[in-house]
Formats: sequence, structure tokens, C-alpha cells
Amino acid sequence: MKDADANTSQLNVLQQKLYSARQALDEMSEDQNEKLQLLLQFIAQLSLACKGQNVELDNKLAKLRHKLTRFNQIDDAVPDLNDINAILKLQYSRVTQQLDESRGSLTNIINHLQQVESIPTKLKKEISFFKKELTKPFHTYWDYIPSVNKIVQFYDEVLAEKVLQGDQFKVLPRHRKSAQELSQMLSEIEFRKEQRDLISTIKKSLIEDFELDTLLNAYQVVLGLLLDNIAKEKTASQAFLFVLNDTLTNVRDVVTDSYTHTIKSFQVSKQLNREMNNQVDNVSESIAEINDINQLKTQVSVQLSALRSALNLKEALEAKEQIKLKASVEALRVELNDLSKETETFKKRLFEQQKLNRLDALTQLPNRSALEERMEIEYRNYQRTKHPLWVAVADIDYFKSVNDSYGHSTGDKTLQVIAMALKNSLRDTEFVARFGGEEFVLLLPNVEDDDIKPLLNRVREKVKNIPFKFKDQKITITVSIGAARIVENELISETFERADAALYKAKHESRDRVIIDL
Ligand code: GH3
Ligand code: MG
Ligand code: MG
Repeated sequence: MKDADANTSQLNVLQQKLYSARQALDEMSEDQNEKLQLLLQFIAQLSLACKGQNVELDNKLAKLRHKLTRFNQIDDAVPDLNDINAILKLQYSRVTQQLDESRGSLTNIINHLQQVESIPTKLKKEISFFKKELTKPFHTYWDYIPSVNKIVQFYDEVLAEKVLQGDQFKVLPRHRKSAQELSQMLSEIEFRKEQRDLISTIKKSLIEDFELDTLLNAYQVVLGLLLDNIAKEKTASQAFLFVLNDTLTNVRDVVTDSYTHTIKSFQVSKQLNREMNNQVDNVSESIAEINDINQLKTQVSVQLSALRSALNLKEALEAKEQIKLKASVEALRVELNDLSKETETFKKRLFEQQKLNRLDALTQLPNRSALEERMEIEYRNYQRTKHPLWVAVADIDYFKSVNDSYGHSTGDKTLQVIAMALKNSLRDTEFVARFGGEEFVLLLPNVEDDDIKPLLNRVREKVKNIPFKFKDQKITITVSIGAARIVENELISETFERADAALYKAKHESRDRVIIDL
């Protein structure tokens, strides 16, 4: 009985041991199961994260995920795992290659950007620093995206800069040539005295660094002045005025046209800039939304190529603009050329008319041709009577400084006043003409040798005593006079030359004096 008990209790112990061993084994396999399950889930998630890179890979992974939901199929999955492994390796090298290619395209874009003129220096430096950074390889897609972002930002800034510069067109060599030609023309056309200061300012503005607006403005102002001149000129014939007026109106239209056109195309260009900016915004939005790198690449390259064609369009527009501008400036040049020829004819007509009038337009004194005629008459009288005849030449002293200090129109008024004074200081039989500039010629018959110097000194004093007042400043203006009496067997032109030589002496001796050639 004892033996039987012992056996029973041994059996119990064994049973217990077996039980706890089975329990331990169960626990162990449960634990393993849990870990395996976790691993399988992890693999499934990982495979999901890989989705979208490659269709073949996607299919294999889907199959794998399906198989890995059941333990008994794990063995079946081994060949799939091998396949997938090979595809993954291939995919990795493809991605590396793609990233390298993307880096290449970004460098290209940057090269294009660098060719855009007028980028501010600071931006230029940033771009070239970025270009250097771009030589380092991308390791993941996430290295790539910030670079695209940066480029978009550069585009944005460059465009903003372009918009800022939109209203300034570049002055090209041909515009400089037009400016030179206009300048040259301005020297050839005779402007009224009070217009000369403005004309010389315009000429100066065309020499220095000017903007295109300055040139167009210059054309407009000059045309305005010319029109004004025509309107004021009463002596010219009506028909001629009409022709000239038409020409000028044409030119003015061309200028206005080119202005309107400039403004219009500036608006178009602004619209284009707006579109380009929108595209830049789109790129930024796409980047934020897209997770898949291939889709991202396609999107970005679509957007960038849209941007590029918008930029091309803009460039083409600007080129067209330059051509139009050139054409209108050329048209202006031709019109102005014709105009200057017409002005030449106009001047000749005026001169002829003045000749008929025999009066100098500014001083209303007899002009040079009237002087020549009167000289002949006096000479014939002299030859007939042998009465004394004097020729005197009077020249205003330092007259240039009157113009320089107080302006041309003050100079003109001064000339008028002095001319009147000269005329009023003479008797009826005596004659004074404006010889040219600030020189006057006097013909004095029947004056004895002793009387000539006092007579001319009275004339000189009369001018000297005119109370000129410029800008609240009292000014004395003097004249120098040289005179000669005609002698036997002398031509009156020779007498004139002796008088002129005497004037020259008076100028050199101190001015404000009379010198008689005896
Ligand atoms: P000088 O004492 O040696 O005669 O000195 P000047 O300054 O008078 O002589 P110059 O010959 O150097 O200068 C003459 C000036 O007269 C130059 C020109 O500007 C001025 N002039 C000539 N014709 C006119 C005119 O019709 N209107 C005006 N405002 N100025 C004139
Ligand atoms: Mg003078
Ligand atoms: Mg002179």
C-alpha cells in the first residue's frame, strides 16, 4: 500500500510539472504570437507607406499584406519576399538617379534665372550661393522639395523686380542716336529768343544719361514750341502754315500714339506678371498638398514650364514693344527731318519778306539791305556834291554779358531801347541801321571835321545815360564807336572798313569811346 501511495504522489508531482511546463509553453507561444503579429502588422504598414512608387511593387506588396494576415501562409510568402526585396533594391537606385536628375533640372532653372538682367545684387548673391549648395546630392525627396520652394521664391522676387521696372524701358543705342539727331536738328532750327533757354535745357538732357521718357518728352516739347512759333508768325502765308501745321499734327499724333501704346503694353505686361505670380502660388500650393514624389515632379515641371512660357510671352511682348517704339521714333525722325527742311524754306521766305520790308524785325531800324541801298544814295550824293560824308560803326560794349546775366529776352529789349536812342539822337538827314547782332551803322552827311567827334560823343553819352534796371539793379550800358570820312577816290565800302578798324581800336583802348580815323 505504501508503494502504491508513493507512486500516486510521484505521479501527481509529474502531472503538476507537466502542467506548469505546458502552461509555460503556452505563455511562451502566446508571447511569440503577439510579437509575430506585431511584426506582421509593421510589415503591412511599411508596405503601405511604400505605395505609389512603382505599380509592380504596389501589386506585390498588396499580395504580401494579404498573405501575412494568416500564420499558415507565412511560408508561402517567402518567394514574394524575395521578389519584393529585388524590386526594392532596383527602386532605390532609380530614386537616387531621379533625385540626381531633378537636381540637374533645378540647376538649369537657376542658370536661366541668372541670365535675367536687372536682378538686384543681393538677390544675385543669394541665387549664386543657392547654386553652389545645389551641387551637393539629394539623399531623399525631402531634400528636393525645399530647393524647389527656394527656386519658386527666387522667381517670385525676380518677377516682383520686373513689375517694379515695368514703366521704365531701357534706353538702347538707337535711342541715343535719335537723341543725338534731335539735338543736331535743334541746333539747325531757328528758335525764338525766349525759347532758347528751354531748347538748351532739352539739348543738355539729351546728352547726359537719359530715360526714354526724356526723349519722347523732348520730341513733344520741341513740337509744341514749333507749333507755337508757327501760330505766332504772322508774316508767313496761310497756305504754308496749313501745310506745316498738318505735318506737326502728324508728328504729335505719332508721339501720342507711342505714349498710349507704351501705357497699354505696360498694362498687358502687368497682367502677365500677375498670371506668373498666380502660377508661382499654384506651385507652392501643390507642394503643400502632394505626398507622392512623382506626382510632385510632374506638377512642378508643368507649373514651371507654364511659368517659362509666360516669361517667353513677356519677353516677346517687350521685344515687340521695342520694335514699335523704334518704328515710331523713326517716323518722328523722318517727320522732323522734313519739318526742318520746311523750316529752312520758311526762314528763306521770311528773310525775303524782311528784305522787302527793309526793316529789322527786332529793332524796327532799317536793316542791312536798306543800309546798302542808302549807302549807294549817299555815295552818289557825295560824288555829285563832294560834301562831307561820314560812316560810323557803333558796337555795344560787353553785350554778351547782358545776355549771360539776364537772359536773351532782356538782351533783346535792351537792343530795342538802344536802337531807339540811336535813332532819336540823329537828325532827319542822318541815318542809322542795324548792321547785325549788336552793331549799328550810322551815315552822317554834311558834318564838318570838328563837329563829328562831339556829335558821336553825344550819341555815346545818350546810350550811356539810359537808366537800365535789371532785377532791381541799375546797369549802365555803353557803346564804342569808330568813324571815318570818305576821301577822294575811295569806295564807300572802303570808308566803312576804316570806320570798322577805328571801332576795333576803340574797343582795344578801353571801350565807351569814339575814335575817328583821320
Ligand atoms: P565787346 O565789348 O567786345 O563788343 O563785347 P560783346 O560781348 O558785346 O561782343 P561779342 O561779339 O563777344 O558778343 C556779342 C553778343 O551779342 C553775342 C550775342 O549773344 C549778342 N547778340 C547778338 N545779336 C543779338 C540779338 O539779336 N539779341 C540778343 N539778345 N543778343 C544778341
Ligand atoms: Mg559788342
Ligand atoms: Mg559785335
